[in-house]
Amino acid sequence: MPTLILATRNQGKRREIQDMLSSDIQVLSLDAFPNAPEVIEDGETFEANAIKKAREIAKYTGLPALADDSGLVVDALNGAPGIYSARYAGENATDEANNDKLIKNLRDIPESQRTAHFCCAMALASPDGRVQTAEAIWDGRILTTPRGANGFGYDPLFYVPTHNATSAELSSDEKNRLSHRGQALRAILPLILNLFSASTP
Ligand code: IMP
Repeated sequence: MPTLILATRNQGKRREIQDMLSSDIQVLSLDAFPNAPEVIEDGETFEANAIKKAREIAKYTGLPALADDSGLVVDALNGAPGIYSARYAGENATDEANNDKLIKNLRDIPESQRTAHFCCAMALASPDGRVQTAEAIWDGRILTTPRGANGFGYDPLFYVPTHNATSAELSSDEKNRLSHRGQALRAILPLILNLFSASTP
């Protein structure tokens, strides 16, 4: 069966992508390849990191691979935490520690200047090294105190004005419809289908 490998061990992401693809394409996560190399995310952009992950995993598995890289870009912090979002408060930092650091670094910034966006880059690599990408953003504002219990990461601080809610107060369906990741996935979906239809006789 045509198989797409995701450069992640996150089963939530795997299910989300399997649901969007027809059942004619099997989606596997890196859990199916326990010895796959750990890819070092040392690129300077979300796109560079996504491309690196997709390329290395496609090469290792010999299968088309999809990778994503995402993070929070805060205008008043000149784009921080950006590509360092997961480790803003240090290597292996908890979501809570990252959120506390963000609140602290924005404490003197007035509401009108607390604009931010999430960014997600996706890369689709063939085993021969060809890569296609898609990128999407989601605009919001950073609150002074967390709100909501859904989601992960910076969701409790990310206020979505159009929905008068933080991203942690949205249902997962709502978040997928609006989010940087949902949008990037929908943008890359036709490229995935194209890749498989081109390689199926
Ligand atoms: P990754 O691309 O899955 O490695 O995510 C990078 C980091 O960006 C995460 O650890 C979060 O801190 C942050 N991030 C990315 N997407 C989201 C989101 O949808 N909500 C909240 N935080 C996010």
